[in-house]
Amino acid sequence: MKKCRLCLKEKKLIKAHIIPDFMYSGLKAEDDKNIFYEVTYDLETDKSKPKKIQTGEFDKNILCSDCDNRILGSNYEKYAQKSMYGKNIDPKIAPICKNFKNPNDGSEYSVCTNIDYGKMKLFLLSLLWRSSITDRKLFKEVSLGEKHEERIRKILYEEIIPSELEYPILMTSFMRTDNSLKNIITQPKRIKYKNGINGYMFLIDSIQFMFFVNSPNHRMPEYVTRTIMKENGEMTILHLKNGKELEFLKAILNK
Ligand SMILES: [Zn+2]
Repeated sequence: MKKCRLCLKEKKLIKAHIIPDFMYSGLKAEDDKNIFYEVTYDLETDKSKPKKIQTGEFDKNILCSDCDNRILGSNYEKYAQKSMYGKNIDPKIAPICKNFKNPNDGSEYSVCTNIDYGKMKLFLLSLLWRSSITDRKLFKEVSLGEKHEERIRKILYEEIIPSELEYPILMTSFMRTDNSLKNIITQPKRIKYKNGINGYMFLIDSIQFMFFVNSPNHRMPEYVTRTIMKENGEMTILHLKNGKELEFLKAILNK
């Protein structure tokens, strides 16, 4: 018996995934079944290697079955899967996205509505939290610290819906660049901002999820608050310009 990290009870722990399976299955190329690429790099040797893997990352030391399946699974993951990933998307709960182009600088973005803010936010925070509590190597840069780990644990366990300004989440995409970075999951990276806030960047199949690890009273810059996931169910996805994906890859691979 070990202590489950979510309910904090001594229980039999199960093999829990860090990134849910369906996010991986969304990554599978049609003609290349069951394979996606995971890019890792080694901070010490400065070497990187794309690795083909066929199954997700698991950790058998973090969650009991009730927490993994019932709390995180049925409450949050099911929503993400049904609305965005996989084959049988339910159109009633799927985001409705409109594309825009800024005439001043040519930047392209999509504004998506019809998002269940609470469920989506908690789902994404659960990815961040799992990445922090696991010892799996791929997630070694994610370390929320005791205070934020505990706050997010409570949020997930007690189904507290944080405001849009607490742990804001921003999304950018590589969908419009020549290399869309499809079929790629990268090692999440920590980014330290000038205002002292830590951020974590996850790339999962063309979409970059940027998490800001702040306290609600810690103000975020306007460019962040304008485009984060909103309590009214709206979210802006900025499409990065061609060439940005190469800068991005260089940055994560050569560090
Ligand atoms: Zn538990």
